[in-house]
Amino acid sequence: MTHTHKTNSRLMLGKLRRALAIEGEGQERLDRIPAIIAESMDCEVCSIYLFRDDETLELCATEGLKPEAVHKTRMRLGEGLVGRVAKFQRILNTDDAPNMRGFRFMPETGEEVFISFLGVPIQRLGERLGVLVVQSKEKRRFLEDEIYALEVVAMVIAEMAELGAFVGEGAALSALHKQARLFRGGVAQEGIAEGNVYLHEPRVVVTNPIGEDSEIEHARLTKAIDTLRVSVDEMLDTAGASDKDQLNVLETYRMFANSKGWINRMQSDIESGLSAEAAVEKEQSLARTRLGQVPDHYLRERLHDLDDLSNRLLRILTGQGEKTGAELPENPILIARNIGPGDLLEYGRKLRGIVLEEGSVGSHATIIARAMAIPLVIHANGITTEALNGDHILVDGEQGVVHLRPDEAVVGAFKDKMAMLEKEQERYSSIRTKPAETLDGEIITLTMNAGLMADLPSLQSSGASGVGLFRTELQFLVRNEMPKRSHLCSLYSKVLAAADGQRVVFRTLDIGSDKVLPYLEPQDEPNPAMGWRAIRVGLDKTGIMRMQLQALIRAANGGPLTVMFPFVAQFEEYRDARAMLETEIQREAKKGHPIPSKIEIGAMLETPSLAFAPDRFFEEVDFISIGGNDLKQFFFAADRENERVRRRYDTLNVSFLTFIERIVRRCNDIGTPVSFCGEDAGRPIEALCFAAMGLRCLSMRPASIGPVKSLLRRTNLSQAKTVIQAARERGDQSVRPAIIGWLRGR
Ligand code: PEP
Ligand code: MG
Repeated sequence: MTHTHKTNSRLMLGKLRRALAIEGEGQERLDRIPAIIAESMDCEVCSIYLFRDDETLELCATEGLKPEAVHKTRMRLGEGLVGRVAKFQRILNTDDAPNMRGFRFMPETGEEVFISFLGVPIQRLGERLGVLVVQSKEKRRFLEDEIYALEVVAMVIAEMAELGAFVGEGAALSALHKQARLFRGGVAQEGIAEGNVYLHEPRVVVTNPIGEDSEIEHARLTKAIDTLRVSVDEMLDTAGASDKDQLNVLETYRMFANSKGWINRMQSDIESGLSAEAAVEKEQSLARTRLGQVPDHYLRERLHDLDDLSNRLLRILTGQGEKTGAELPENPILIARNIGPGDLLEYGRKLRGIVLEEGSVGSHATIIARAMAIPLVIHANGITTEALNGDHILVDGEQGVVHLRPDEAVVGAFKDKMAMLEKEQERYSSIRTKPAETLDGEIITLTMNAGLMADLPSLQSSGASGVGLFRTELQFLVRNEMPKRSHLCSLYSKVLAAADGQRVVFRTLDIGSDKVLPYLEPQDEPNPAMGWRAIRVGLDKTGIMRMQLQALIRAANGGPLTVMFPFVAQFEEYRDARAMLETEIQREAKKGHPIPSKIEIGAMLETPSLAFAPDRFFEEVDFISIGGNDLKQFFFAADRENERVRRRYDTLNVSFLTFIERIVRRCNDIGTPVSFCGEDAGRPIEALCFAAMGLRCLSMRPASIGPVKSLLRRTNLSQAKTVIQAARERGDQSVRPAIIGWLRGR
């Protein structure tokens, strides 16, 4: 026999609202729910299972099972039908439960065999909270509207749980946003920090999931959607027509804001008894669950857009502001799904650490976090849903690990680690003014990489001998429009002033590849890293490069000027760029600006081809700087942004080291000054091996100067060379094991 009950979820929610409105302890309130559902749905059993920890579900309230089983019966994620609903976050509806895969009979619950089973996940914005189940002895397949009604109730339970309505008894209930959580992500900037959570985006809390009057809720939703549409139209009007990406996103917003399907679904959620904001959140939760399951990149992006739009709508409905509104706590650790470079610069150095759900090693936010030396962990899945403002948090940017609400033992171990790192820092500062001189008397010049005004204080504090690489594109990346020549000139002047006579190597604009300027037309290239980038753009679109060169000449103001061109792949490119600079100097002189007292014009060696350029090139160029990040990616044909292939090839691979050695030897033979400025120069062991290959000038992040210098000062370079030579002769793939073994053995 099949039941054809048409469950009226409005009625059920009405009863729930009245039952939950009565004061009571957490457990007491939770206990009122199953009876109402069981009765409304005409079932013998209704149970609420909530997560006790990431892996275990616990029976927390029931109608129809043995009351003694409450808080006793537990199951692991994936175990039994309930565990499967939780694991796959899918509804399970069967009229033949005992024969379903995974069925587990639990005598302790006093379960007679209930043949029919309907389970729906209790989840909020992608965060799994538990499972809501109804069971019946009668053979019965639940109907669409019954399933829907149960989903709506599950949503209300999730909202109430979020508000802490059931907190009090039962580990599972009290645990929400209270338990210690560990997140494993990726390292984007090293360093470790202890502090308190600050959410970049406000967390909207729905305080009234159940609507009293559907007419009112409909009107509220309609009004909010109108407001949303107007604001999207306004954003479209003000968005720069040139910014295709932004326009694209906004067009998608507009499409969603007018999407019948989306609005209809929310309207029927209201019809079934939810408040307007709960309806928005229900659809948002659905989109988030899908987000986790969609492999297609384009679709994922669109679901993200919908998620952002839902957030906006929620903010309009609840009146909870754009910004968190919360004061920055002491030692703030910023938590966000993702963040743009502009926003990050606004927070500036106030932040102790940053944790992102998304992000990438090469993103602009990462570049800025690195420049400011703020520990940054990316890909910390789920942290924005789990963390609350003010939560205690430890960020380990060395391991890519984040501890949220850590327990004592973890805090203790973390403090030890911090103290150890601090001790190291002390040691580094004690050698700050000392040279990086090896035990056998070789002096290595250590300079720093920079790109932001925020870097300049490090010139003094790090003990760097000037700036070996000033990435000028950062100034172009962090704004929404092309900077003006006067602006660049004043910035470069400040950099030179801060350097106080020390050499600063300005690298001309290196855009393209992963560095996309928001105000330039994006290039649709199949392989941007090998595409129209850096000097190639500068030579083709001479306007920007000339403007930049003029700004540099004016900033030098009659003093010395050092310029370096990025990504030179052949002699001609260097010649053309050099000629351009010389022409600009003459032009500036004609206009009455002082010309630099001394000018050095270098090239970055970032493609293997340049290592084999004619001797004439090495004679004409004033200096060479090896851009190891790019050189390595082209040497091994392994994308520097692609974690999967990037790690395959060690920088200390014998082939790569030998290649570096040959470049250095060639430069030395001809008398061309050579340095190395890729990220690897900042890793002590790599730096040591480069020095052993003959490099005498290394440029790195300011924070790396101490550790590199410290190791160099304790090492005998000729012995290191012998170790490397022996590894080569043995045919080792990488010299790393040999070098580490030798360093340990000393
Ligand atoms: C490099 O490629 O090594 C380099 C220093 O340049 P960037 O990392 O800016 O491409
Ligand atoms: Mg490069």
